[in-house]
Amino acid sequence: LPILTLNDVKLEIEGKPILRGVNLKINKGEIHSILGPNGAGKSTLASLIMGINGLKSPTSGEIIFENKIINGLSIYERAKLGITLAWQEPARFEGLTVEEYLRISGRHNPELDVEKCLLAVGLEPKLYLKRFVDASLSGGERKRVELASVLAMRPKLAILDEPDSGIDFASMEDIAGMIRALRDNGATVLMITHREEIAEISDRASLMCEGRIVQTGEPGEIGEKFKSACLKCEIRNPELF
Ligand code: ADP
Ligand code: MG
Ligand code: MG
Repeated sequence: LPILTLNDVKLEIEGKPILRGVNLKINKGEIHSILGPNGAGKSTLASLIMGINGLKSPTSGEIIFENKIINGLSIYERAKLGITLAWQEPARFEGLTVEEYLRISGRHNPELDVEKCLLAVGLEPKLYLKRFVDASLSGGERKRVELASVLAMRPKLAILDEPDSGIDFASMEDIAGMIRALRDNGATVLMITHREEIAEISDRASLMCEGRIVQTGEPGEIGEKFKSACLKCEIRNPELF
């Protein structure tokens, strides 16, 4: 059963086509990777699903979350429905303690357990609950704390855009652990990446190229296609698929 459906989603920015008709179904409970080269439109698609960076409605097409068209909804409305994009806006929580930050993030989660959220991201609660969310945290600690805040929210759909891009948060083990934590927390995960070894840890994967999803399938198969064709830019014409 799809939790998220994209129906022929097109987006033009200042007259330039960025998304050229994205069709995609993300099943409830799956870990789904979108793999594609730089500039394919992956982050734009993530913004459009979350409703951030001024992107709330596609130029045409539908974004459907659990049977409801969410075109035009604000980020707050989407967050209430259960959609989260990890690592987007930690700035407004500057100066709070880690504990306060997690309690605010999890205020709608009746089963909130802040210590469990920290343990799930490899941080010892005793050492971190009273720390401040500010520059005193290293880049990697910061990413972990932000992931803990995503766990605290207990989203239905968690979107991770380039989860390996953190400073000291780059090992496959870290990424796999983080995804396990989200899955155990009940989330469907949409993971965006340009590294096929990261896509490998998902249940299904989709290849995105030039503003379209050109193929969906088993991660190994999609990774091969990405390496053999997409990286050499042989997929100039998505109609071929
Ligand atoms: P990816 O995440 O796959 O690397 P992006 O979604 O960041 O790709 O970008 C896709 C294309 O859209 C790029 O050509 C980029 O220059 C363009 N783009 C993204 N955002 C904007 C914007 N706000 N204004 C104009 N062009 C944009
Ligand atoms: Mg990019
Ligand atoms: Mg990107």
